[in-house]
Amino acid sequence: MATSAEGNRTSTDRLTDYRKKRDFTVTPEPAGTHGSAGSVAPTPNGHRFVVQRHRASHLHYDLRLEAAGVLLSWAVPKGPTLDPDAKRLAVHVEDHPLDYFDFEGVIPSGEYGGGDVIVWDWGTWDLAGGDDPIAAVESGDLHFDLHGQKLHGRFALVRRGKPSVREQWLLVHKHDDAAVSGWDPEAHPRSAKSGQTNDELRTATD
Ligand code: MN
Repeated sequence: MATSAEGNRTSTDRLTDYRKKRDFTVTPEPAGTHGSAGSVAPTPNGHRFVVQRHRASHLHYDLRLEAAGVLLSWAVPKGPTLDPDAKRLAVHVEDHPLDYFDFEGVIPSGEYGGGDVIVWDWGTWDLAGGDDPIAAVESGDLHFDLHGQKLHGRFALVRRGKPSVREQWLLVHKHDDAAVSGWDPEAHPRSAKSGQTNDELRTATD
């Protein structure tokens, strides 16, 4: 059990920042008021992960790990990679609701995060060492295994500098059997959910 103030926040409390940033009468994104109902999850065991490819004002990939009733989230501008020699900037952003797990769609321009979103990869994840992912995030050092359709193997997320609002972390893939030198996420552009690219989703939505 986490004992810190952060760890004791309920999933509803943890979504305050998420809701403040968005107008749910305009954006198709979920408001996160219905738990995980309606989500098409690969597994229901509480250890899901998703990576969304999000073409907002700047292209980035959103890595989300299910824990404590929310999706812990980092924005990774260059995307996650299996390349063990690549260090990727990952900006820690607000927790997202579980409903966001399978969200694909077009957020209207002018809204927060306006742009198109696909489910680029999804699957399950395991914490490597310990049993408290919230405490690991607070400590700024999270080692975990991903079991996705594209991403596999051991990753580490490590905070750079002091805790702050938009913390800069580094995402790296460990040297293990799943590592692939030079692996480029942009060479694998299709949605794990629908098979669409971001362009195809946008065309279908328009
Ligand atoms: Mn995003």
